[in-house]
Amino acid sequence: MAKVGDVVIECVRGDITRQPDMDAIVNAANAQLMPGGGVAGAIHRAAGRGLAEECRPLAPIKPGEAVITGGHDLPNPYVIHCLGPVYGRDEPSDRLLADCYRNALRLAEEKGLASVAFPAISTGAFGYPLEPAARVALSTIVEMAPELKSVKTVRFVLFGERDLEVHQRVLQELT
Ligand code: ADP
Repeated sequence: MAKVGDVVIECVRGDITRQPDMDAIVNAANAQLMPGGGVAGAIHRAAGRGLAEECRPLAPIKPGEAVITGGHDLPNPYVIHCLGPVYGRDEPSDRLLADCYRNALRLAEEKGLASVAFPAISTGAFGYPLEPAARVALSTIVEMAPELKSVKTVRFVLFGERDLEVHQRVLQELT
């Protein structure tokens, strides 16, 4: 856990679909905003068919972009869908990954949300190495924290123990 101004940044091990205290969870989406593997599959399964219906007219999105929908059957009022870069294909991958976090937080601010939970975007099927991805993600959030007005809690939800350790270490180094 770290505090930057009055924004709490925390890393936990868990499942992104089981964060009932968060106003929004972030989807590591595909360009079509449809169910798939990994985070997108889990979110669409938990949210029900209504989520895909709401997503259809918003697609496709480009790497670095984000869109916001309702949470449907999830415990969260909102889902923010980000398309991360495919590592080695969508360049510059570090800037596109940072754009995901920036655009997601901007949408949360526009809706006046207080809390947002992120998965480690692009580190699964999209192949972004974990530690460099954690550096981009966490440094983007630390940089943005002073300008956030409504968002007070940013949570990283990591699936694996090593993923959690890397994020915690990088967060400590940055703050
Ligand atoms: P991408 O296509 O952007 O790489 P993935 O969904 O394949 O996205 O994976 C992103 C990261 O999220 C990976 O580190 C993966 O292990 C992790 N992950 C997968 N399912 C979940 C989940 N239900 N909750 C949190 N993290 C998850």
